[in-house]
Amino acid sequence: MTLPPQCTQLSSISIKTLRRRVEEDPDFLFKYIEEVYRVIEKYEERLRAYITLRPMSDVIREVENIVKRGKLGPLGGALVAVKDNISTRGIRTTCGSKMLEDYVPPYDATVVRKIKESGGIVIGKTNMDEFAMGSTTENSAFYPTLNPWDLSRVPGGSSGGSAVAVAACEATVALASDTGGSIRLPAAYTGTVGLKPTYGLVSRYGLVAYGSSLDQVGPIGRCVEDVAAVLDVISGHDPRDSTSLKVGVGGFEKYVVGSPLKKYRIVVIEEMVSEGVDEKILKTFNSVVDLLSKHDVTVEFRKMPLLHYSLPTYYIIAMAEASSNLARFDGLRYGIRSDVEGKLWVDVYRKIRLAGFGDEVKRRILLGTYVLSEGLYEGYYLKAAKVRRLIYQEFTKLFKDYDAAISPTSPTLPPRISEVITDPIKLYSLDIDTVPINLAGLPAISVPGGFIDGLPVGVQIFGPPLSEGSLLNIAKLIEGGGCG
Ligand code: GLN
Repeated sequence: MTLPPQCTQLSSISIKTLRRRVEEDPDFLFKYIEEVYRVIEKYEERLRAYITLRPMSDVIREVENIVKRGKLGPLGGALVAVKDNISTRGIRTTCGSKMLEDYVPPYDATVVRKIKESGGIVIGKTNMDEFAMGSTTENSAFYPTLNPWDLSRVPGGSSGGSAVAVAACEATVALASDTGGSIRLPAAYTGTVGLKPTYGLVSRYGLVAYGSSLDQVGPIGRCVEDVAAVLDVISGHDPRDSTSLKVGVGGFEKYVVGSPLKKYRIVVIEEMVSEGVDEKILKTFNSVVDLLSKHDVTVEFRKMPLLHYSLPTYYIIAMAEASSNLARFDGLRYGIRSDVEGKLWVDVYRKIRLAGFGDEVKRRILLGTYVLSEGLYEGYYLKAAKVRRLIYQEFTKLFKDYDAAISPTSPTLPPRISEVITDPIKLYSLDIDTVPINLAGLPAISVPGGFIDGLPVGVQIFGPPLSEGSLLNIAKLIEGGGCG
C-alpha cells in the first residue's frame, strides 16, 4: 500500500486493525477519530473531498453512544465517507447540484442503514460530478476536488470526493456509485481500490437515480481487504429495490488471502489494450500480467470487436434514462423552489430547471430526450438496447472459457484540471474500458497496479455475474503487501 503525503500512520489503518485495537482499548477509537480530523483540518481546504462534513463533536457523541451499548459490529467504528447522491437521514444530500443544495432526506438509503447497523459511522458527504455525470469531479456545481498525488490534476469522477477522502486518509472507507465507471476511474486515479458490484447485488434504494439499469453502489478503500469488508455489509437482497437479486451473499473477506484460490484462467481483450492507450499505462499493465503469470494464473488474449460500440451505446442509454429520471426535479416536490413566478406551470418548471441544473446535466437531458423522441427512437435508443444485448451475450460466451478478464482501468494518467472538461469526446473517452462492464451488469474492481511519474495506475479486473469473490482474490494478488 503506497499512500499520498497527507496520510499519517494512525490515519491510514485498516478496518481490521481498527477493530482489533478498539477491542483492546475502546479509547483507541477516539484517538483515531481525532487523528482523521487532524488530517482533514490540515488538507481539506485544498483537496475539497467533502460537500458536507459532520463536526467532530457530533461524530464523537454518536460513537460514545455506540460504545456505551457495547456493540461496535464488523466495521468497528470505521469512518465512512458517503457520496452525495446516497440518501442520509438528516444530512443534506445535494448530488453535487444547485437543484438539491438544501435537500435533506427524511430517510437513509439501505446501504447507509446497513453501514450504521454494522458499526460504521458516516463522517460526511462527498463531492461529485453533478448527478454523477462526469469523469473528473469538475462538473460539481460547488467546486472541483483535487488529486492528492498531484494537486494540479483531477481525481477522476464522478465519485472523486469519495476516492480522495479515502486516499488522503480523511476517512476509513467510502461508499460511491458507478453507472459507467464512477467508482473505478477515481479509484485508479487516486491509488485506491474500488469495486462495482454485479448489477442487483447491492440495493439501490435511496441512491438518487441517474441511469437506473446501470447504477450500482459499491465501496472504495485503501486496500482490497477493506473493500471486501464493506461489500460484506452492504450486499444482499432488499425488497425495496425491485432489481435486487435474491442471492445468499457475504463471506467476501475470506477471498482476500494473497494466494490464488484456484488456477485462474484470465483473458485480456485486445481492443482494451490497443488504440488510444498511453504507452506508460501499457507498461505497468504488462508488468501486472507478468506478475499474475508467476502466480500460476494463465493469461490469454482474445478479440472482441463489438466493444468498439460500447461508448456510444452507453451514452445513448445513460442519457435516455437520465432524461427520464431527472424529470422529477420540478422544484415543487424536491429542491429549489425559490421565489420563481410564472403564470403557467411550464414557465415555473422551465425557470427552475434553467437555474438548478448545470450545463452537462442540461446537455444530457436534451440529448436523452432527443434519442427517445418519436421517429428517432428506433434509430438510437432501440438500436443501443440491441447492441447492449449483443455485448452481454459476447461476455457470456467469453466467460465460458475464462474466470475473469483484465484491462487498464483508464487509458490515460489523471488529466490536469481543465484539460478535458471542455472537450466532451475526450472526457467521455476516459470511460472506454469501464462502460462495457455496466452495460453487461458485470462486477469489476480497480486495484493499483503501479506508479508512473509519481501517479497511480489502476488495473481493472472483471468477470461473470457474482464473481466478486474471485475478483477480490485476484486483486489481492496484484496488490500484494499488507493493509495497514
Ligand atoms: N463518466 C460516465 C458518465 O458521465 C460515468 C459516470 C458514472 O459512472 N456515474 O456517464
